[in-house]
Amino acid sequence: MLIPCLACESRFRPDEYFRACHDYHRGMDLVSWTCPRCGNRDELRVLPGELGFGYPRHGRFDVSDRVRVPGLQRRRQDMRLDISLDQKVWRVPTRLRQLAGAR
Ligand SMILES: [Zn+2]
Repeated sequence: MLIPCLACESRFRPDEYFRACHDYHRGMDLVSWTCPRCGNRDELRVLPGELGFGYPRHGRFDVSDRVRVPGLQRRRQDMRLDISLDQKVWRVPTRLRQLAGAR
């Protein structure tokens, strides 16, 4: 199972990919990701069994492309998103400055 960078098309093992996730935006339910190879920054939504890529529009995020990641799970915590796959867990923290606008 390899997950592609949509900019440079490098492919990453899940551990390498999810370690490059940073900043969970709780209001939009998005994770920021910076490609370790090309430095492209993307935002994605972690969903059960897949990753959703798309575009912010009218204050929402419309998923237009999905990458299947069988077994992928997510759990929203107070200050972070926990992503898990194959017994591993990656914790993506919420940036403090977003809290002012969060519910
Ligand atoms: Zn890349």
